Amino acid sequence: MARPKAKAKSKAKPRAEAKPRANQKPKVEKVIPLHMIPNVESEVIKIGDGRYLQSNEAMFTFYKRSKGEQSPYFLALLEKKRILGARCPKCKLVRVPPFEVYCPDCQFEKLKLLEMPDTGVMNSTPPITYFANSLFAHMVPFGRGRVMLDGADTAIPIHVYTTRGVLTPRVFKKNTPVKVIFRKNRLGKPTDIFAVPLSEVPEKLRAKKGVEEHELDWSQSAEPPVDKPTPESEKSFKSVLAAFQAMSKAVTKSDRAKKDLSGWKRSIQVKTAGGNFLINIGKQNLKVKPGKAKADFVMVANNPKLFEDWMNFRDSLTNAIIAEKLWISKNKEFTTVFKLDRLPRSLRRTLETSELVS
Ligand SMILES: [Zn+2]
Repeated sequence: MARPKAKAKSKAKPRAEAKPRANQKPKVEKVIPLHMIPNVESEVIKIGDGRYLQSNEAMFTFYKRSKGEQSPYFLALLEKKRILGARCPKCKLVRVPPFEVYCPDCQFEKLKLLEMPDTGVMNSTPPITYFANSLFAHMVPFGRGRVMLDGADTAIPIHVYTTRGVLTPRVFKKNTPVKVIFRKNRLGKPTDIFAVPLSEVPEKLRAKKGVEEHELDWSQSAEPPVDKPTPESEKSFKSVLAAFQAMSKAVTKSDRAKKDLSGWKRSIQVKTAGGNFLINIGKQNLKVKPGKAKADFVMVANNPKLFEDWMNFRDSLTNAIIAEKLWISKNKEFTTVFKLDRLPRSLRRTLETSELVS
C-alpha cells in the first residue's frame, strides 16, 4: 500500500511547552485513544476466603486495511474533495458511493466513475445518535442519514448535522434538500464528509464545490427566549435551587457521583422563566447559585421544574434536549449533559448500597 506523502509531515519544530491542556486532544491521534488504555496497576480480588491478585496486561494487534478497488472513491474524498459515483454504460444506473466495479444487472459490464454533485435530498428521516460508541462519541449528536445526490440512483449513507445548535428530529425529514460538506482534516474515510440542510448554507456557498466545515457559520444557534416569571415558576425555581443544594451535599458522600464528575470543570449559565442560576462543576462536585455570570455554555429551559424531574428520574436532560424543552448553546457540551445525566442514578445507587450496609 502506498504510504502517505512526505509533505504530510510537519516541518515545524516541536514546541518546548508540549503540555496538553485538560480535555485537549493530542495533535496526533492514536488508533487506540489514550484514555482507553488502562494504567499499569494491579488489584486484589476477594473470592470467598481467598485473596487473588490481578494485574492489567496488554495484548494488541494492529493492521492496515486497504480500500482496494474502492480506493478511487476514498482518494477523491481525501485529495480532491470530490464524490464519485459509478455509472453503468448499459442500464445507466448511477451508484453512489461506487460500491460495485461491474454492473451485476448487465452481465458485469465495467462501470464508469463520474463526479457527482454535492447536493441532494434526504432519502428518509434520519435516526439521531445521541449516545455513540467510543469511535463516534466525540461527534454526537449526529443523524445517520441516507442522501440521494442529484443524479444518483442509490443513497449514500452519511452523517447529517445542523449548524443551528443541537440536532433534534425537527431538522431533517424525507426530501429535505442537503449539501455535502468536507472535513478539514480528512483521512479518506466515510466520515470525511457530512451533510447539512441546504437552507443553512449561505447563498454564495451553495454552488461552490468542496465546501469545508469551517466555511459554515456554526454560531448561529439562536438562544430561545423565556417567558415572564409567574408566581408558579418562581416557586418552582426556589424549589429547584434547594434540590440542587441537597444534590451537591449528596455528591460529597457518593464515590460513584464523584467519579462521574471527576476531572471535569465547567460553568453553566441556566436561564428559566422562574429565574437564572449558575451551575459550577469542579472538584468532583457541582455548586449552584442564583444569578448571571460569564459561563462556558448556556442552558435555557422555560420551565425550571425540568431540573427537578431530572433529579427525580422522571426525565433525563438528554431527553429534554431531544424534545426541545431544554436548549444548550454548544453542541459539544453534550458530553457535560451526559455526565450530569449520570448523577441521579449514581446518587440513588449510593443510597441503596448504604442502606444495605446499615
Ligand atoms: Zn447496468
